[in-house]
Amino acid sequence: MTDKPSDTTSRKIALETLTVQALGHVDEVTRAVVPPVHASTTYERDPDGGYRSGRAYTRPHNPTYDAPEQLLATLEGGAECLLFSSGMAAGTAVFQSLLPGDHVVASRVMYYAYRTWLVDFGMSWGLDVEFVDTTKPNELANAMRPGKTKLVFIDTPANPTWSITDIRAAAEITHAARARLVVDNTVATPVFTRPLELGADLVVHSASKYLNGHSDVLMGAVVGAVKDSFWHRIRAWRRDAGAVPGPFEAWLLLRGMRTLFLRVHRAAETALRIAEHFDRHPHVASVLYPGLAKHPGYAVAADQMFGGYGGMLSIRHRDGEAAAIATAANVEVFKRATSLGGVESMIEHRASIEGASSPVPRDLLRLSIGIEKPEDLISDLEQALDKAALCSATT
Ligand SMILES: *Cc1c(COP(=O)(O)O)cnc(C)c1O
Repeated sequence: MTDKPSDTTSRKIALETLTVQALGHVDEVTRAVVPPVHASTTYERDPDGGYRSGRAYTRPHNPTYDAPEQLLATLEGGAECLLFSSGMAAGTAVFQSLLPGDHVVASRVMYYAYRTWLVDFGMSWGLDVEFVDTTKPNELANAMRPGKTKLVFIDTPANPTWSITDIRAAAEITHAARARLVVDNTVATPVFTRPLELGADLVVHSASKYLNGHSDVLMGAVVGAVKDSFWHRIRAWRRDAGAVPGPFEAWLLLRGMRTLFLRVHRAAETALRIAEHFDRHPHVASVLYPGLAKHPGYAVAADQMFGGYGGMLSIRHRDGEAAAIATAANVEVFKRATSLGGVESMIEHRASIEGASSPVPRDLLRLSIGIEKPEDLISDLEQALDKAALCSATT
């Protein structure tokens, strides 16, 4: 067990400071500044048969989850946080806590594995799933079926066009139909957007991305604004379905989260520089980044993102798919890899990873900007675009 977080009632301590110090917890037994990993799967029972520690078995009760869960709940301004074994386990736990026949409205542009799961499993298990363009509040409003619609699921900025959904407007529309709004906040992170403050009911994360930040942990999280009956159902689902992280992974997550603010501010500053630089590049048809004034979501992003527009952007190659793939083939600093939110920058030809059903334009390259020296990233992309142009000119 750990001490209470440092008293923040008398003086307002910034979230950034609280994050660096992981809420200031110190281990009660050893005074260790870094909490221990609790590997034990089981806890001793009292002679009278009770569990005075409140813990019986690791699946519902591993204490290594406590610090990262409390930190993420604080960052998101939520009542409670639950860690899961992956982002997919977290998001699908929310869907699986619904009942057959429940109507779910989701963004048409969204993280592709959620879209695939909703179509392949959510629908066959009886959810009535409808995809709409949630960047248009009137489309969302038209999709609502009061009494039937139980959940609206949005992703903003959404992969891989970084389209922006107005969270405040979506919350009003969702609540008018007495449904719950879930926001996947993986890309924005609570550094830039706190959906619960804008009216959302639940936030889901792939903690594998910015929260951990080092491309070495697979984890997910759900944060609830209130501990209502639906929240308790999600908590029971985690306990009973068992998609919980290992204790060492939970420990690594807390270690990664301490530098969240530094990492995402740096990534977003560099992403904006790269977006502006390549926006006028002769081989680039367009740059998709919500921090560019010409991006269709710019005004809403400027309103609901505080201090940056994130580290993700996409570029569409003027000469089409082959030139885009050749560009990715010629990078030397960027890593040719999927995923996002690591300290190392990554580039990928997105349509080929999403497969045949992907709605992603074939000429699109998705960039996850890391924290390297910005000039190295810019010159790497410059030379890769030039080499790709040379290839297509000679073939
Ligand atoms: C990666 C990702 C997920 C899935 O998370 P995993 O940890 O890979 O299971 C969900 N949503 C978004 C936006 C993601 O980028």
